[in-house]
Amino acid sequence: MQRMRSLLSGVWVDGQGRGATLLNPATEESVAESSSHGLDLASGLAFARVEGGAALRALTFAERGKLLAELARRIHEHRDELIELAMTNGGNTRSDAKFDIDGAMGTLAHYAELGAGLGDVRILPDGDSLQLGRAPRLAGRHVFVPRRGVALLINAFNFPAWGLGEKAATALLAGMPVLCKPATSTAVVAHRLVELFQDALPPGAIGITGDLEHALPGLLEAGDVIAFTGSSKTGARLRVLPNVIHNAVRLGVEADSLNSAILGADVEAGSDTYELFINDVSREIRQKTGQKCTAIRRVFVPDAVRSRVREDLVERLSGVVVGNPFADGVQMGPLATAQQHRDVLAGIARLSEHANVVLGGTCRPVGVPEGKGYFVPVTLLDAPDATAAVLHDLEVFGPVATLLAAPADSESLCALVARGGGGLVCSMYTDDRKLAGELVMGLAPHHGRLVIGSQKIAGQALGPGTVMPQLLHGGPGRAGGGEELGGLRGLAFYSQHTALQGDRALLDALVKA
Ligand code: NAP
Repeated sequence: MQRMRSLLSGVWVDGQGRGATLLNPATEESVAESSSHGLDLASGLAFARVEGGAALRALTFAERGKLLAELARRIHEHRDELIELAMTNGGNTRSDAKFDIDGAMGTLAHYAELGAGLGDVRILPDGDSLQLGRAPRLAGRHVFVPRRGVALLINAFNFPAWGLGEKAATALLAGMPVLCKPATSTAVVAHRLVELFQDALPPGAIGITGDLEHALPGLLEAGDVIAFTGSSKTGARLRVLPNVIHNAVRLGVEADSLNSAILGADVEAGSDTYELFINDVSREIRQKTGQKCTAIRRVFVPDAVRSRVREDLVERLSGVVVGNPFADGVQMGPLATAQQHRDVLAGIARLSEHANVVLGGTCRPVGVPEGKGYFVPVTLLDAPDATAAVLHDLEVFGPVATLLAAPADSESLCALVARGGGGLVCSMYTDDRKLAGELVMGLAPHHGRLVIGSQKIAGQALGPGTVMPQLLHGGPGRAGGGEELGGLRGLAFYSQHTALQGDRALLDALVKA
């Protein structure tokens, strides 16, 4: 069995004892072991700050962009191997694994291009010089410089490649070294990525450890940052760590979200916009076995088409073949862990106290030993009362979504959607500009991203579940309040924003150096 080691202070080291055992969630066979017990994490952090930080800051944006291009190239070179690891340790189907791994590669490549575009400079300007006095000579200018610390990248189990890739791309381009802490249960892919990346980067620029004791956040100092993705519960724990509070350790939280899809009252069944809606909802329920922070959980539909929507979704989803991702014809794999399995089954039971299960129940997974694996079927519910609290509060992190009646007036609709408490993404399907405008104004304050599906883009829409590096990822409230990606905006988190005051010519020359 594979033994995963930690990369700390530029060397691969093994923890004491057996540590955690990682499984194949389809068969429950052991895949790897990981231990971080007894490792000198504080020295690992110090090495990253001192050695990795200095080496990255010595490079220009264009040079750091070249490093990212090389990381993307290495993923491409090892793509098949990485896909197989994701299928084995994550329960991903081949297509789900590609979604994760190609997402990491594409995001790194995007930031490589942004680095090339910034050129051979080390300071990132924020806007132009501003005249401060009567004469034009006295000026001010805002800039971003790399923070003097280490970026701790804590990721959730569902995107071991993309989660690491998107955080590392922005941090490294900004000039901060990274220490990766993948979720233990699916860490094999992240671990392999760091093995592939290590000698493409300066010593200390990247490290990885299992941190089974969750000790790393408590060791951070002023200048360090935590980029966290996971549950709101863990995010809340990090926010109140004394050192995070007292040292102003910057914390970004990407957490849960009860994402919604809304079908506009103007959309006729069978139209292009309607088909786009059905395609998106059925993909989002099933892809990655519903273990996507951006998956649609609440589906708001006008009463007039509700039974048609229900029939169409049931028709699309009832034939989904569930089983071992390595078996022929399997379209949906298992949940990632036994705990996930328990949580999702309990979540479906709670939802079904307030909604009727129109698709779901039990499933007979193919290609697995009898009784093994963490499988659930695609589950669609239909709630007679759209106001029941649990429908807006409980994130069931699996292939589960609920149909709800959309109030006819957009104000009440927005108020109902907003009961999710802040989300990552909401998609609306309408060709009515007035309605789109009302929904944008009503829902943007509660979401990090809004997707407007319409007839004009029906053939080329990406779907709400795909996070693009050009656009912000994150959301207010329950979703954590974090912001990631968004092109160059993503660099701000890993940079100090500083206002410079002085001679205009000098300031302008400094940002070009
Ligand atoms: P989780 O239990 O919060 O774990 C997330 C990460 O935090 C893991 O690496 C975990 O390590 C670590 N961790 C757990 N407790 C910790 C502590 N006390 N201190 C420091 N680190 C700690 O979440 P999960 O079950 O892996 O992920 C599912 C959740 O993530 C869902 O709610 C989903 O909505 C959310 N999610 C959000 C996004 C987004 O971008 N907003 C993306 C994906 C997932 P161990 O694995 O070693 O315990």
